Order: sequence, then structure tokens, then C-alpha cells
Amino acid sequence: MRQPAGPERRLILLSNRLPFVVQRDAQGGTTVEPGAGGLVTALAPVLRDRGGTWIGWSGALDEENLDLPRMLRGAARASGYSLEPIQLTARERTFFYHGFANEIVWPLFHDLQSRCRFESGYWESYRDVTRKYAAAAAGLTRHGDLIWVHDYHLMSVGRELREMGVHNRLGFFLHIPFPPLDIFLKLPWRFPILRDLLTYDLIGFQTLRDRRNFVQCVRRLGEGAVVRGKGQVTRLRGAGCETRLGVFPIGIDFREFAHRASAPEVTAAAASVAAHHHGGCLLLGVDRLDYTKGIPEKLLAFREALRRNPDMLGRVTLVQVVVPSRGEIPQYSDLLGEIEQLVGRINGEFTRAGWLPVHYMYRSLLQPELLSYYRAADVLLTTPCKDGMNLVAKEYCACQLQERGVLILSEFAGAAAQLQRGALLVNPYDTEGMAEAIRIACAMPEAERRKRMHRMRLVIRRQDVFWWVNGFLEAWSGGRLDNFPVQDDYMPEAPA
Ligand code: UDP
Repeated sequence: MRQPAGPERRLILLSNRLPFVVQRDAQGGTTVEPGAGGLVTALAPVLRDRGGTWIGWSGALDEENLDLPRMLRGAARASGYSLEPIQLTARERTFFYHGFANEIVWPLFHDLQSRCRFESGYWESYRDVTRKYAAAAAGLTRHGDLIWVHDYHLMSVGRELREMGVHNRLGFFLHIPFPPLDIFLKLPWRFPILRDLLTYDLIGFQTLRDRRNFVQCVRRLGEGAVVRGKGQVTRLRGAGCETRLGVFPIGIDFREFAHRASAPEVTAAAASVAAHHHGGCLLLGVDRLDYTKGIPEKLLAFREALRRNPDMLGRVTLVQVVVPSRGEIPQYSDLLGEIEQLVGRINGEFTRAGWLPVHYMYRSLLQPELLSYYRAADVLLTTPCKDGMNLVAKEYCACQLQERGVLILSEFAGAAAQLQRGALLVNPYDTEGMAEAIRIACAMPEAERRKRMHRMRLVIRRQDVFWWVNGFLEAWSGGRLDNFPVQDDYMPEAPA
């Protein structure tokens, strides 16, 4: 019998990483720092109110030598919920995290099958690690607790839990895209993964397109699963359980971003960034080092815009921040080389006295610095080849307190559905189209900029990260999924 998911129910949350980072400091001691990010902001109060546990890897590389439970006790006391660290061996970090998660599922689910390395050792390690997470959850779970599993690293935890005899309600949220059938078919473990996903009671996706792709895979590969209506999959085989499918686009803590962006030190830093660029048009890119982010494609489009529009020379500058990520995977270091070569070429071709076209930073920024760039930039250029959502786009809009900035956004970012009425949407594979969007953005009259930015900020404020958590939890407690209307995917129209 189904248990109601009332507000009193404790939450057991599983994600690849804990919301705290354990690191060695320069003196050889260890520090435990809270992790940043919207997921923690949104879920921490829910965990605090209901009580519960967050299960995940601590991020510590030499955890065999650390007493993690003791170290995390203080952090748990401060956060108001308990933390359960998962220990990963060096082999598991290589085979499960870098291997299965980031050399198979990540590229495949972003439609980049040619970047996958389908090693069978990766799959075995994924199985082992999934079991480890499930065993930790099973050991903590009490009757009536809700178990909420996050993201592509942990898709199979639900099935492990069922096999361990856990009958609690299971939810899963996929933060990245779900690929179309023809791409999902390439996965050597397509049947077990689909079967594992169908053990959850509720699966949340970022966009309608992701849910549609999943439904198509279930229809064709679901081994007897029957799809009813728009978003409910009934699995007839096995335990006869029913999986509901919802669309919950993740948001940001809009008010907090807008508030922090208005701090005097951020305002002063933004003014100094703008002054440094002599009142020209300042374009900004902020991307993690990842081939899904379309950074070379963006640089090529910027070069094309400069080649076609001589009046931009000396006037238009791109500040491109690349945040280091997954450096252990060779494809990422190759990508870094490609980006740095392109930046060098563009600067070599166009730089003139007093003007450097691309200001390039390869590091992560502290939040006040990031917010000052968000405030100062006339245009944010965020053009991933494929992205589950793209929070940078939403953060930029939240920080545009004067509502003057322009967002150039990839059609293939999840955020395109919500922001299509305000952003200039581009196809990142269309260099000339993107170059033209850059020209249009820099020349856009102020009234139009304001109208567009205002529209986007309304959506981002309304559909913030708290709306996202509530939507998922309400659907879980049996709420109708159509009580939570979301914007349709963007579809380009044929040019006139
Ligand atoms: N970010 C950061 N440090 C930086 C630049 C960005 O922590 O130097 C944050 C940014 O504020 C955003 C996140 O990284 O919250 C990136 O999220 P997004 O969804 O855009 O991309 P992801 O990296 O998750 O694929």
C-alpha cells in the first residue's frame, strides 16, 4: 500500500557528493567547508525541518586516513541534519566516477556518443558503488522515510534498495538531459539502466523534451512496461510498481542572488570592471571546462563577429571565465589546449593598442567577483552544445538589477524553454548565426533589452529553487502532475 508523503516524513537524500567538502589545508590539517550551489540552498531547509540525512562522497582523496564521521559531526550539528559519508577507493574514483559516470553517461546523455568509452570494468564498478550508496541508505532508513536520489551517477540505487527489502517511497531527479532513443540505444547496459530507473515511484526531469525521450525509450525497450497518459509509466512486470514522470526545471535562489548582487562591494567592483572596458560592449562567458559547454564554438562565433563587423573592433570585448573541472580525464586537458589556442589566435589577429578582444581566465571566481561580472556585463554569452539547465544564465538575469543586460542562450540548454521569450536563442553549431546574434545583442536598443530582461527575471523569480523542491515533493505526495505547468520546449521557426 502507498504511504502518503506528508510534511512530517523524514528525508533521506543521496547525491554523488555531500554538501560539505573535506580538504587538506596548507598546514596538513583538514577543513570541512560547506559546498556552494542551489541544490544545497534548496534542500537544507527541507532537511532541517523534516529531519533527515544527506548521503554522499566527501570529496576527500585520502579518506582512508581520515575519521570522516567524526569530522562531519560538527558540520552536521551546524546544518541541522545528519551527514553520512560514502568512502570511495582510488579504483572506484577512477572506474565509477571518472569512468562510468563521466566517460559514459555524461557524454552519452549530452548526445556526444563519440566521446564515450564503453569499458566493461566501468560498469562493474558502477554496480559496486551503487550498492554501497544503497546499503548506507538502507541502514539509516526508518519506516515512512522518503528516499530521494539525485542525478546520473546514482540511477540504479533504487533497484538496489528494493533488492535490499526497502519498501519506502523512492524518488529520483535527473539533473542532466535524457537522450533520444537512438542515442540511448548505444548504451551497452540500456536494458538494466531502464529497468533500474523504473523502480522509482517518481522520476523528475528538467524539460518536457527529456521526459518525452525517456517515455520513448520505455515504449520501445521497456520490457512490458505500459505508458499511460502523458506522464505515467506503469510497469507491469516485476513487482507491478508504478512510476510517475514529472517535469521540474531546477531554479536558483533568485532573491538571494539579487540581494548579494546589490551589496556595495559588488556594486563598486562591477563599476570598476565596466570602467576598465571603456564603456564598450562587454560580453561575458562563464563555463566549467567541459566539451558540452560549447566554448570553442563560442570563440569561433566571436571571431566571426569581429571579422564581419569592423565597427566592433576596439569596442566589443569578451571576458571568458573557464572554471577548472575533471582535469584527470584526458579529453578535458585536450579541450583546454584547444580553447587556449583559439584565444591566442583571436587576440593575435585583432589586438590593437589599448584593446584586447578576449580576456581569458582559467580559474574559479569567488562569488562576489562572479556577481560583479554578472552585473557589469552587457551581454551573457552562454551557448552549450547541450545542457540540463544552465544555472549561469539564470544567475546572470537575477543579478541584472537594472534589467539592461542581454542573454544569448543556446537552444539546447534546458533553460531555453523558460527563457525563450526574453533570450536571443542560438544554435551553437551555427557560427554565422551566433555571430549575428552577438551583433544584434550589442546594438539592441535599451527599451528592448529592458523588456526582454524583465520577462526573464519574472520567470526566474517565480520558478525559483524553492518552487522546484515544492513541486517535486508535492508530486511525490500524490499531487497531480499537471498542477505544475511548465513551459513547452523551444522549437525554431523557419526563417521568413
Ligand atoms: N560557479 C562557481 N564558480 C565560478 C563560476 C561559476 O561556483 O567560478 C557556479 C555558478 O555560480 C553556477 C555553477 O557554477 O551555480 C554552474 O552551474 P551550471 O548549471 O551553469 O553548469 P554546470 O557546471 O553545473 O554544468
